[in-house]
Amino acid sequence: MNDCLFCKMATGEIKPEVVYEDDKILAFKDINPKAPVHILVIPKVHVATLNDLDDTKLAGLLLTTVAKLAAQADIAESGYRTIINCNSEGGQEVYHLHLHLLGGKKIESPLA
Ligand code: AMP
Ligand code: ZN
Repeated sequence: MNDCLFCKMATGEIKPEVVYEDDKILAFKDINPKAPVHILVIPKVHVATLNDLDDTKLAGLLLTTVAKLAAQADIAESGYRTIINCNSEGGQEVYHLHLHLLGGKKIESPLA
């Protein structure tokens, strides 16, 4: 996807503030943080939305990476919230799958 912002980050064309990287996954700080810890975890391969995720191994890697980064940010015990927004009514703005990792304060729930 040539014009995808997060693909450009995955290839290094645009350089976010990276907190974790391996051959399949990149994690970086959100540019507009909503909490003291606000990290985005993305697959390096272009997956537009959660609806398009058919690789169960990659899905597992994304989730375990969130947990690993929560521990790294020292919020595993205090707690955190993970959000995946999907399509317009789900509030998705960037159409490359990403998991939000939010913590470092009480994160209000949309379910409350
Ligand atoms: P979503 O609404 O789930 O699609 O979230 C997109 C997220 O990407 C928002 O929290 C933005 O602040 C974040 N974002 C957009 N552009 C950048 C960027 N250049 N670097 C880091 N985060 C970004
Ligand atoms: Zn992309």
